[in-house]
Amino acid sequence: MDTRIVVVGAGPVGLMLAGELRLGGAEVIVLERRERPTTESRASTLHARTMEILASRGLRAMFGDLPHEPRGHFGGIPMDLTLPSRFSGQWKVPQTRTEELLGRWAVDLGADVRRGWAVRAVTDDGGQVTVEADTPTGVRTVRAAYLVACDGQDSTVRKLTGAEFPGWPATRELLRADVRGLDIRNRRFERLDRGMAVAARNPQGVTRVMVHEYGREVPDRSAEPDFAEVSDVWKRVTGEDISAGEPIWVNTFDDANQQLTSYRHGRVLFAGDAAHVQMPIGGQALNLGLQDAVNLGWKLAAQARGTAPEGLLDTYHDERHAVGRRVLANIRTQAKLLLDDASVEPVRALLAELVPAEHNRALLAGMISGLDVRYPGGPEDHPAVGTRVIDLDQRDGQGLLAVPGRSFARLARPWAGRVRPVSTPPLIAHGDAVLIRPDGHIAWVGSAPHRARAALTRWFGPPAAMADNDNPEKGHPSGH
Ligand SMILES: Cc1cc2nc3c(=O)[nH]c(=O)nc-3n(C[C@H](O)[C@H](O)[C@H](O)COP(=O)(O)OP(=O)(O)OC[C@H]3O[C@@H](n4cnc5c(N)ncnc54)[C@H](O)[C@@H]3O)c2cc1C
Repeated sequence: MDTRIVVVGAGPVGLMLAGELRLGGAEVIVLERRERPTTESRASTLHARTMEILASRGLRAMFGDLPHEPRGHFGGIPMDLTLPSRFSGQWKVPQTRTEELLGRWAVDLGADVRRGWAVRAVTDDGGQVTVEADTPTGVRTVRAAYLVACDGQDSTVRKLTGAEFPGWPATRELLRADVRGLDIRNRRFERLDRGMAVAARNPQGVTRVMVHEYGREVPDRSAEPDFAEVSDVWKRVTGEDISAGEPIWVNTFDDANQQLTSYRHGRVLFAGDAAHVQMPIGGQALNLGLQDAVNLGWKLAAQARGTAPEGLLDTYHDERHAVGRRVLANIRTQAKLLLDDASVEPVRALLAELVPAEHNRALLAGMISGLDVRYPGGPEDHPAVGTRVIDLDQRDGQGLLAVPGRSFARLARPWAGRVRPVSTPPLIAHGDAVLIRPDGHIAWVGSAPHRARAALTRWFGPPAAMADNDNPEKGHPSGH
């Protein structure tokens, strides 16, 4: 059986996925166009759910001490992100560092990361995927059972497959620069008469300026703008002259908001920015992508190894497309609140009153942090099904059967290597066993052993002893 999976793109999502696939026992090749990791300044926020996942994989310590900010904002309206989680709030870590650490983890687990490979053709013949890439030694071909496109917002694979990618094209742009030698005051999402401005000076004396001019058309850009353009717009919006500053980095981003209709096209799947493009606001883009990877990894690895029950892989699209749609909607709302002209002020004023009310605040904080993600269960499932379990060690990437007693522990034996029994304090209710997926979400809760077996089969495939005997349950998820 070909358990090989090609991941296109060694950004944070591709590297997280590579590690997850290795934990699931798949053979992984990551093809990355860049010869060296990027040094570009990008996302800097990890949210609570991502931190919980990193902790469950034993990766929290590797990140060391991180600056922590309990507050955040919704469309520039300040709000507290505190929720019941060991990691609530925002954790500041440059994306370059996140990539470096995830890359090291994936390689240590055995992922084969090939740099300087620019994918240019993908063919899915129904039985396998053939990938063609330009490499320093010419055009090379790799064959695999599956391919996952983690090649970012301008995804080559998305274009090659012609995947439908509906949504809203960009109508608003932000110009951004890191500048040395500026003596201007800090501004936090300041909405002025002509636009919105942010300025933040770091301890090294570099000021990040970010500016949007209301109503300014999004130019057709083939390259990043020069600093003169940034300082012109900054002058018009704030009245300040920053043209004498020394730019270190200049960049733009916009409010394009698009999501693939389907995250799976045969043997080709999509994750991260390749699957959904959104304005990078409040750090949700990166976190959404990392959580795509953690949802997909164990399912795809099981599929490639032949242990996955029928339909498991398709739950990736079902679960993550719905989460993505909701996040993209909140990001689009925030873009309007932040970047529309004075006509949006009445909406902002109303929200500024609504957001601090505890119910609303908790709802928004749950959405922004990813802590409220709940995958849908069946009508007869326990209400906790689909929610996350925290503070469990899943660094081996296995599912867990949290058991109330020894007899239940024996029950998981035929799924050894896929599911590990653990005795924990009651997670849900005394006497109940809890089946936990490798991504930390609850698959089943109950006390009847035959239902536990059915749930194990439904999520982790047939028991080992039966797998060789053409198990009649295989391919027929048994429900509850
Ligand atoms: C310029 C920029 C600034 C951003 N700023 C912020 C920010 O301030 N805050 C925030 O929260 N988010 C920001 N984001 C968004 C955030 O960086 C992304 O959400 C995150 O990087 C998504 O990770 P990814 O792995 O899906 O894609 P990427 O990080 O884009 O990684 C994709 C990888 O695929 C590789 N690749 C592309 N095509 C090919 C190919 N044909 N063959 C092989 N490899 C290929 C690329 O080289 C890249 O390494 C920014 C994004 C960009 C592009």
